Amino acid sequence: MSQAAIPPETARPPSHLFYVTRLRRPLVDRAEGVYFWTRDGRRFLDGSSGPMVSNIGHGNRTVIEAMKRQMDKATFAYRLHFENEPTEELARRLAQKMPGDLDRIFFVSGGSEAVESALKLARQWAVATGQPKRWKVICRFPSYHGGTIGALGVTGDLALTETFAPQIQPMPAIPAPTAYRDRDNLSMEQRGLRYADMLEEKILAEGAESVVAFIMEPIGGAATAALVPPDSYFARIREICDKYGILLIHDEVMSGAARTGRYLGGDHWNCRPDIVTLSKGIGSGYAPLGAMAASRRIVTPVLDMGGFQHGYTYAGNPLACAAGLAVLGEMERLGCEANAAAMGDLLMAELHNLARRFPFIAGIRGKGLLIGADMVADPVGFTPLPKALNANQRLLDLAYARGLIIYSRRIRGDGVEADNFILAPPLIITRDQIGEMAAILGDSLEALARELDLPVDG
Ligand code: PLP
Repeated sequence: MSQAAIPPETARPPSHLFYVTRLRRPLVDRAEGVYFWTRDGRRFLDGSSGPMVSNIGHGNRTVIEAMKRQMDKATFAYRLHFENEPTEELARRLAQKMPGDLDRIFFVSGGSEAVESALKLARQWAVATGQPKRWKVICRFPSYHGGTIGALGVTGDLALTETFAPQIQPMPAIPAPTAYRDRDNLSMEQRGLRYADMLEEKILAEGAESVVAFIMEPIGGAATAALVPPDSYFARIREICDKYGILLIHDEVMSGAARTGRYLGGDHWNCRPDIVTLSKGIGSGYAPLGAMAASRRIVTPVLDMGGFQHGYTYAGNPLACAAGLAVLGEMERLGCEANAAAMGDLLMAELHNLARRFPFIAGIRGKGLLIGADMVADPVGFTPLPKALNANQRLLDLAYARGLIIYSRRIRGDGVEADNFILAPPLIITRDQIGEMAAILGDSLEALARELDLPVDG
């Protein structure tokens, strides 16, 4: 389209869409690599991969061509009527990527669906194996596992759950291992064990015979902004789950698909979960795609019982899986795990530099290209900034106005209140583009400090 034919933003008709707010955004024109261009001629660096989705970057021709080829064959073939090649092949490839014996794959179209599937598979496994009293899924606070009613039951974020409380079956929760905030005399590893032991205490308080599973994000996402537990946490959690015959569900919707420098977040600790949920990066924005991986030990009794009583119309459709298969191929060809690790180190160093200039940034954390930090009134005691400042949204807006997209939230619940932000660009980002990101973020923080009267050093 020629420049002359582009309608000015002001001439846009009112929208019939509604999402969270009445916010209007510029019309997107195209996207390539780590950038978006809008119809009014602006360029944005996608510093958050949307909501941590576009892992292989935008406009990948190999994926687009693979999708076109599949579209010419069949865009949809219902799984109860036909098998299809891309779905079979993607399941085979994903099974190879999963830890331990998790070689059974169940496709869905998004992260919440993957979590719902895991909650239901765990429950049906309990019934199928003669443990019908087990139904509770212990979760963590804060956490985010999706927007559907079942997933909200294991989500620890009052801002998202409070209104719907009468409709939600709330599940028992333990504190997320926010060890970086603790001011005690314990080492990080001791803190990791202390947080993990809270799972055992909760199991005993609830009655072990009533608990079927524990769900956690191995590396935190939206609610905890890339929270990384101490190393000691993981083995102890596995030990406790084994001791009480409880399934361990790793929600890798955000931390999976190479985002943190390994295919799964849990791979950094050689974790052996019983169920893994995936979405976001496995479709990388080319198609709505999610998956649940489970071990045969769980799936076999469920199928023997007469079948998994669960499924979605669009699950495992050939077009989404053709996209997912091509995404996985590109992820390997482009070396996304290695680049996420290397560029993540660089971005982390840039953020530490910025934190020296802007001491209201604290608790920098993350792995690979899933990096988060808090914005606080006091970086030692982690006193939150006043809510009225709306610091997280202001930072997002100031960065957006300067052509950088970041992700930010204010999380609320159970004694934790924090403004945080996440940096998570596509995993193909280059050294120069990391520099560009850091420069725009620095300008935005400068503007935020001026606007909210926050401290600046030097
Ligand atoms: N689980 C985790 C860890 C997530 O980060 C998200 C989304 O952010 C979800 C589940 C829900 O995914 P979706 O929004 O695709 O339903």
